[in-house]
Amino acid sequence: MLVTSVEALPVSYQEPTDHNRFRSVCLVKITDAEGRVGWGEACTYFPEASRAAAQIIEGFAPLVIGQSPRDIEAIWQALKAHSWWYGTGTGIASFAISGIDIALWDLKGKQLGTSVLDLLGGPVREALPAIASLHGTKASIAEMAEEIAGHTATGLHGAKVGFGKAGDAHLGFDEARDLDFVDQVMAAMGPGKDLMIDLGVKNHWDIATAIRRARAFEARGVAWLEEPLGHDDPEGYAALRAGSGIRIAYGEREWNARGVERIVATGTVDVVGLDPGRVEGITGFRKAAEICALHRRQANAHNFSTAIVGAASQALSFACSACHVLELQPVYGPAQRDLVDRPVWHENGFVNRPEGPGLGIEINEDLVASARLA
Ligand SMILES: [Mg+2]
Repeated sequence: MLVTSVEALPVSYQEPTDHNRFRSVCLVKITDAEGRVGWGEACTYFPEASRAAAQIIEGFAPLVIGQSPRDIEAIWQALKAHSWWYGTGTGIASFAISGIDIALWDLKGKQLGTSVLDLLGGPVREALPAIASLHGTKASIAEMAEEIAGHTATGLHGAKVGFGKAGDAHLGFDEARDLDFVDQVMAAMGPGKDLMIDLGVKNHWDIATAIRRARAFEARGVAWLEEPLGHDDPEGYAALRAGSGIRIAYGEREWNARGVERIVATGTVDVVGLDPGRVEGITGFRKAAEICALHRRQANAHNFSTAIVGAASQALSFACSACHVLELQPVYGPAQRDLVDRPVWHENGFVNRPEGPGLGIEINEDLVASARLA
């Protein structure tokens, strides 16, 4: 059944896990000749990037209309070939390919009456542990520790905390405060829970600072340290690797499997962040996750936007052997809770299996219409 239309829908929404700030994504709606619909998402985050992705999606549309969603790989290759000049491994073209690709996987599953998880080969594990992904925002460390422990008390297996974010937490700047934070959060969560630290764009550590903090975090049992030197510092990461034994995470800002291959080859990344809304869709994520698996690295879905990327991340994390956990925002806003009928969630700390054909979700189109960017 052939595709008859490709629509780009730039939207914005308030994100409770990020200080209720507005963030933007570009949704993609692909319809076939029988009226079935597949949905995708480009994790653009900024309104100007959402609008730019929408323009490219509209430019890609003639390459998708009239094609069968069964031929996802061929369409994906055609989009890559078409964007040879402006999509040379980075940028908005990868966002646009991501949104279209996710929508095609959803539509293919709906046409065949099969879940995306089964199209990907089925689950490789019975149970997928969930962790909370949140930002530190409060001035009081004790209050933040209590809040985080409240989330992990629901069964979540740990918490990844963003430092250097909006609000009054002031984390990632002062060593004594950072270590106090780690001590109080780990004590509040209790044994058996993992704490991951994720440096934000407001934090600018030099290599010596990164090594000092990494050693102190490692001694306290921090499970991984994410983007302590940003996304592009191979020499710095090599020095950090030589100077501490902590597990190092980065990769979520890579655009495709080639970029993931490049950072894995440095030998400095243990946990590779991958966003299906950025890394060229479900197709691109799977290629990147396979590289991680071949090199015994952990792949980790950067699941921090709407319930569409949530559903794609859920299917991929069950299907890819390199994925070991799934991050969930512990407090859902409209983009996760109200956008779809069955948002990914957990039961006693384990991610629910997707159900139903495609991504297993039905979209609230009234909400999409109300969230459209002007
Ligand atoms: Mg991160």
